[in-house]
Amino acid sequence: MRRRMVDAVQSEGEVSQAEARRARNRKRIRQLKWLQYSGIGTVWALFVAAALVGVGVDDIPWWVALLLIVGATVLLDRVTRSLMVQTGVIKVPVLMYHSVAPEFELIPAPGLSVRPEVFAAHLRLFEEDGYTTHTLSEVRAHLTGEAPLQGKPLVITFDDGYLDNYLYAFPILKKYGAKATIFVAADFVEDIQAVRDLDQDASLATGAYLGWGEIREMVESGLIEIESHAASHDMLPRADRIVDYFRPGLRNPWLTWRAFPHEKPRWFLRRPEDVGFGRPIYECGSALEGPCFRPDPEIEQRLMEHVAAGGGRSFFRTIGWRDELDRVVMEYRAEHGGKTGRFETQEEWRDRVREELVGSRVRLSRGIGREVRFLAWPHDCFNERLQAIAVDEAGYAATTSGLHQNEPGDDAHGISRIPAGEGLLGRRWQRGDLWLLRAHLALFRGNYLYYLPAFLASRVRALVLRLAPPRS
Ligand SMILES: [Zn+2]
Repeated sequence: MRRRMVDAVQSEGEVSQAEARRARNRKRIRQLKWLQYSGIGTVWALFVAAALVGVGVDDIPWWVALLLIVGATVLLDRVTRSLMVQTGVIKVPVLMYHSVAPEFELIPAPGLSVRPEVFAAHLRLFEEDGYTTHTLSEVRAHLTGEAPLQGKPLVITFDDGYLDNYLYAFPILKKYGAKATIFVAADFVEDIQAVRDLDQDASLATGAYLGWGEIREMVESGLIEIESHAASHDMLPRADRIVDYFRPGLRNPWLTWRAFPHEKPRWFLRRPEDVGFGRPIYECGSALEGPCFRPDPEIEQRLMEHVAAGGGRSFFRTIGWRDELDRVVMEYRAEHGGKTGRFETQEEWRDRVREELVGSRVRLSRGIGREVRFLAWPHDCFNERLQAIAVDEAGYAATTSGLHQNEPGDDAHGISRIPAGEGLLGRRWQRGDLWLLRAHLALFRGNYLYYLPAFLASRVRALVLRLAPPRS
């Protein structure tokens, strides 16, 4: 008893010492941050002032002006770099990739997929620039200050668990001895133990999901960690508002997933008519974000039957088909107190979220034989309540809810990521993309000289995508 009391007193003493050390560290980091921000702020202000003054001088030849701008930029870069080294606060960029494939056809979204040769160029760039790749556990130890990382640490992550991560990215990662983390959505893991290759089935190249065999081979290599991307990855109705009806020519992964919840890894093999023409498409949002709206199965059935009776595909060739379906909905509402379904209660939402977060963690941990500890929020949607459920109830060490730069003293439960991909300027242009990737990494690490070019590039990308959207 006495011995235990002594132990308790000693450990209490250790705890308070450790707490004091952490508090000192936090204070030091705050001071260093101020030094860095104010230093770089001053440098930018000088740069802008010099540019404004330079505007008035019009008898300088263009090449001298160009030389001055290039010289000033190089000088600024050096100054900010030396500030970064002096402050000594190591920020860890965590990159977010999705697919690595020559042709990716599953989800048409610009920049979601990177060609293998481009991904290889990224890894070459990391190697040339002296980056070292790390796991998320190492980043967490860096955030808590337990084991701060040194040099130029970097983390590579992939979301969704596409098979091409194994087919194309894994060989490249092995070649460079680079570590990476794959966030897998548990419902999408193919329940097969065999390892697939393109010689057996060339169609795998355009899109499929990882199976347990491929996952285990990657984990056993010691380079890849598997973490959770929750279970369903769904988008669910969030309001009693129908915005469209499923019809020929539409592609809607979420509707297909909901119609065939047990076929998620192969959802893309389903034909549109299997999903059901006429199915109402509600205003949707991330499944986890809040209570969802549950449409009555009867309204969905009534609409699909109406379309089938009107000729299926050909129904949508008649003028006024939308008004006709709207009328079916109106009649249904009149019979059911103005509603087409009901909202989930807060308790039901909580239970569903807990099931997704705990369920995916348990299923993935069991499948790979190692504990899953990190969560990437699907669709990047999270809020304080979700974060509390993930950490306090579902037991995750951290999630991708960070909004900082992954430096010691930041919230150790939130990891911040930056999107990486191809077409950062709205079109495939490898040289430009590589330069911009370099700029994003430098900016994340604290060289704020790159803020303006990175911001301008994001505007250019938005403009290019708006003026000339890619064909999907
Ligand atoms: Zn995702």
